[in-house]
Amino acid sequence: MLRLDGVTAEYEAGRRALDGVDLDVADHETVCVLGPSGSGKSTLLRVVAGLHTPRTGRVVLSGHDQDGVPPHRREVGLMFQDHQLFPQRDVGGNVAFGLRMRGTGRREARTRVAGLLALVGLPGAERRPVAALSGGEQQRVALARALAPRPRLLMLDEPLGQLDRGLRERLVVELSALFRELRTTVLAVTHDQGEAFVLADRVVVMNEGRIAQTGTPLEVWQRP
Ligand code: ADP
Ligand code: ADP
Repeated sequence: MLRLDGVTAEYEAGRRALDGVDLDVADHETVCVLGPSGSGKSTLLRVVAGLHTPRTGRVVLSGHDQDGVPPHRREVGLMFQDHQLFPQRDVGGNVAFGLRMRGTGRREARTRVAGLLALVGLPGAERRPVAALSGGEQQRVALARALAPRPRLLMLDEPLGQLDRGLRERLVVELSALFRELRTTVLAVTHDQGEAFVLADRVVVMNEGRIAQTGTPLEVWQRP
């Protein structure tokens, strides 16, 4: 589904944010990326999304080399920490945005939006202005928006970062079930080991731009 081959990335010449990353993500697999701040996790997502051009190496999605493919042509759904909702649109308009762009009919879009809003704990919120939502509520809308087009690869950067613990614990279990149901391939950055245990088929631990460790959560964390 996704393959990175010897990917290096730099923001400033000579300082490698990614340093020779090789990664394979299988169809329907959920991979959680962990590691200290500055280890390259966000850059990894940005490179796959086409928001940052690698210096060397290849990004291959569903067998297609992504070199030169612009972000909007890549079949990836994104949810970053600084989720930018469209402030002029209401909640429903935000979630439906990608659907309408892809030609999903109004009726189908409405049904799907309602289902997603219920899923993220905001049932019936379609007509609420996004400016009136709390940070956590906005994060949930951003999550629903990323899920709406049912992307082949869903990339999440600290998707539940701003939520309180109770909501996180509930959502993470629902997300895990949802990913399995949608059979979406997921690449998620998280700081939370517990979250990775619930979500991940496989964990990738990054350090200084390299993959330091990879394996199932049990393999990675039960090692002596
Ligand atoms: P993480 O997501 O693990 O915190 P990042 O991918 O954000 O790590 O950062 C990896 C490295 O790239 C860090 O050394 C960071 O300082 C650097 N970096 C990230 N974004 C930029 C940027 N916009 N300009 C310059 N350096 C950056
Ligand atoms: P209307 O409310 O008349 O239907 P739109 O919903 O098309 O207008 O857009 C409302 C505003 O939302 C526009 O002014 C536009 O700047 C902003 N907007 C819509 N889509 C995007 C997008 N993909 N990225 C950034 N801004 C957007």
